[in-house]
Amino acid sequence: MAETTPGSAASPASPGSAITPGSAASPAARSARMFNPGEKRSEVPEGLWTRCANCDAMLYTKALREAMFVCPQCDHHHRIGADERVRQLVDPGSFEPMWTDLQPIDSLKFVDRLPYGQRIEREQKKTGHKDALVAGKAFVKGRGVVLAVMNNEFMMASMGSVVGEKITRAIELATDENRALILVCAGGGARMQESTLAVSQMIKTSAALARHDEAGGLYLAVLTDPTTGGTAASFAMLGDLTLAEPKALIGFTGARVIANTVRQELPQGFQRAEFLVEKGFVDRVVHRHQLRNEIARLIDYAGK
Ligand SMILES: [Zn+2]
Repeated sequence: MAETTPGSAASPASPGSAITPGSAASPAARSARMFNPGEKRSEVPEGLWTRCANCDAMLYTKALREAMFVCPQCDHHHRIGADERVRQLVDPGSFEPMWTDLQPIDSLKFVDRLPYGQRIEREQKKTGHKDALVAGKAFVKGRGVVLAVMNNEFMMASMGSVVGEKITRAIELATDENRALILVCAGGGARMQESTLAVSQMIKTSAALARHDEAGGLYLAVLTDPTTGGTAASFAMLGDLTLAEPKALIGFTGARVIANTVRQELPQGFQRAEFLVEKGFVDRVVHRHQLRNEIARLIDYAGK
């Protein structure tokens, strides 16, 4: 099971995704170095500028951060990690992270370019997280929620046993405490290094969501760029209401694979959020600046 995200090769290192707030060794810092080669480098503090992945504008990173990593020139929604997403959505200081010690086991002794065990260690060091999902209780404009965010800074938010387990626990907590569940989805799908252990998370999370639904619980799915593979084929598509960020890539399989299989030219905007609203897969495209408001409004609308 080797699901790959279309365009994933460009993701971890692309300038658009390269804006991890935080350490000097962040991808943002690395991209800044890339764009300021040579002797002038020492004059420009690392990470001061970020190039927009869409319009190429050089943006003052601090201003971009204040704009929630939405390009002020072209409105491109840059990819952001889980910590930044939590910061943007919850009431300040209200997030209580949970199950932070869960970490993956290399049961298959999987080796690709790097043994899986080493890959996990490297990602843990880079992000300060044990795996690719951040979850916990929080308040959004005073409404109590359980928030789970897939972290595309950790192995491209691929879904392994830890991601599935934490999502399941988050769902069950939301059911038990009658809180709204907000799940911010991302990534290329099942983590190939965990094979069927990863794929079985689709079943586990879907079953927990069915119980949440039977108990009258509310689930808001927020799909971000990209949400594909097994993630798209399970919990990401099971929301009571499905929101998506503008132009987010959402789909199961890459467009090129589909085009080659059906031998047809695909329509313009295929697999983008706006196209999926037209086709009924997504309820609403929400600008990042409005996302927090919209979540609070929908919780009220659902009477939760
Ligand atoms: Zn731009």
